[in-house]
Amino acid sequence: MATHLDGNALAGALSEVFRADVTAARARCAGCGGVSPIARAMVYPDAPGLVARCASCDQVLATIVDAGDRVFLSLSGMSTIELRR
Ligand SMILES: [Zn+2]
Repeated sequence: MATHLDGNALAGALSEVFRADVTAARARCAGCGGVSPIARAMVYPDAPGLVARCASCDQVLATIVDAGDRVFLSLSGMSTIELRR
């Protein structure tokens, strides 16, 4: 039987990910499979929050909604994100 840890085991790795320079990161679009720098995405700031779309196929890559005391982040349109250390 495989052993597992609880979600607290992700704390160190996620802290490193969210501290990285995301503008230099590359992402794979879940829609078309293309890989490109996140800085190349088309960002629409006037939606209820920020909406980033793939420059190739228009798939929604990410949404960020600032709700005051909380922030809602969805990266569901990116199947992979590559960050440089
Ligand atoms: Zn795409």
